[in-house]
Amino acid sequence: MSFDDLGLSEEVLRAVGDAGYTDPTPIQAKAIPHVLMGRDILGCAQTGTGKTASFTLPMIDILAAGRARARMPRTLILEPTRELAAQVAENFDTYGKYHKLSKALIIGGQSMDDQYKLIDRGVDVLIATPGRLIDLFDRGMLLLSDVKILVIDEADRMLDMGFMPDVERIVGLLPKMRQTLFFSATMPPEIRRLADAFLMNPKEITVAPPATPLEKIFQGIVTVTRKERGRGGGYPKFKREALRALLEKEDVRSALIFCNRKRDVDILYRSLQKHGFDAAALHGDMAQSARTETLGKFKAGEIKLVVCSDVAARGIDISDLSHVFNFDIPTHAEDYVHRIGRTGRAGREGRAFTLTTPEDDKYLHAIERLQGRKIEEIDAGLGKPGRAERAKQDDAKPERSSSRRRSGKRARDDNRDVKQSDNRDDKQDGRRNEKRGKNPDRAGKDEAVVGMGDHVPAFMLRPARAPG
Ligand code: AMP
Repeated sequence: MSFDDLGLSEEVLRAVGDAGYTDPTPIQAKAIPHVLMGRDILGCAQTGTGKTASFTLPMIDILAAGRARARMPRTLILEPTRELAAQVAENFDTYGKYHKLSKALIIGGQSMDDQYKLIDRGVDVLIATPGRLIDLFDRGMLLLSDVKILVIDEADRMLDMGFMPDVERIVGLLPKMRQTLFFSATMPPEIRRLADAFLMNPKEITVAPPATPLEKIFQGIVTVTRKERGRGGGYPKFKREALRALLEKEDVRSALIFCNRKRDVDILYRSLQKHGFDAAALHGDMAQSARTETLGKFKAGEIKLVVCSDVAARGIDISDLSHVFNFDIPTHAEDYVHRIGRTGRAGREGRAFTLTTPEDDKYLHAIERLQGRKIEEIDAGLGKPGRAERAKQDDAKPERSSSRRRSGKRARDDNRDVKQSDNRDDKQDGRRNEKRGKNPDRAGKDEAVVGMGDHVPAFMLRPARAPG
């Protein structure tokens, strides 16, 4: 099927041609004709499948008829993170270049006044994260009663991040007669329930995950068995050592390095910088201007390594990564696939390495189960005993299993922490910082520890309390 068969206007087709696309991706071929007919869509598709264009291209044509009224946007796109919202806005610029559509990007960390001025002039498309949208609505700066098309993108991530109550409230403020396009990478029962509540007789479309076949990515694990003395269960120092060894061994052109916790992003990136690596950080507590600048430099090849959290990196469209490193193993096997799928794009070979500890075994097994194959254990050149050797030790000492169970529980508890803290990351999205009168540029700085070498005592990692 070609783009010409989808019912798009000549102007949109020209813009698509300018973007260099020759054929629609499966989600585009399946969704675009139905969106143009005004049907609701329930799309099960991940980032990387071309889903953004599957809703922006037909929306541009639908919006070409009609005009925006002051403070009453005609369409609303909800995104879980600022980066995704900014990417969708870029898509409107790229594909809408032969149309005269107005848009406003409503995200935390940027001036509310400027956003209000745009809305006040009347916008065709509002691309928003839920928190900032509600802030503006509650201040009476915006009316949602003229929204004809609603897009809920990355619904499963919105749920994970605790945004669903906000999303439900927003949907309740919209007209009942509207077209709704709902996308989610996964369809757990809670997402199904929400889809049933938000959609009317939707066309269901499921497409396979992005074209980066996992087979094209070399995957390795490096086991870190030594713990830091005096820090119950802490491996970070030795993980940093292993990561540095890997970075030196590998021919890294550009890499994302994932941590499970925001505070570890800061610590790791400072440590890498201290050791002379060209690294930057990306997490939900950074000011939007800093996030945008870092991304811009990374895309332009001016920074080689970006240390990030899942939330901040979710959906970032950076092709051509040579490597992905998991400084922490992801606790959801699907996140592992999302993370490593950022390398090995466009037919290139990608390389993905994960640092694991004995406590991580169950997460590693879950990832291997999901892929249906084992991940190769590699030697980062540190001479540590690997998984096979550990298994032998475990066989020899069955009594260790109870302590392993305990550490498993501790790991689970930690992970609950991770999830909650990551949820908080973007949920507060600068919003909380603004409310407290705290400069978002300073956010997260409590955790900066300077002059301690690699060893950072646990008490120094706790955020400082404000006096009084
Ligand atoms: P998305 O899944 O929307 O994040 O899109 C992933 C990437 O695919 C983006 O870089 C798009 O520019 C690109 N893309 C979208 N549609 C097409 C297409 N039909 N042909 C080639 N690339 C595309």
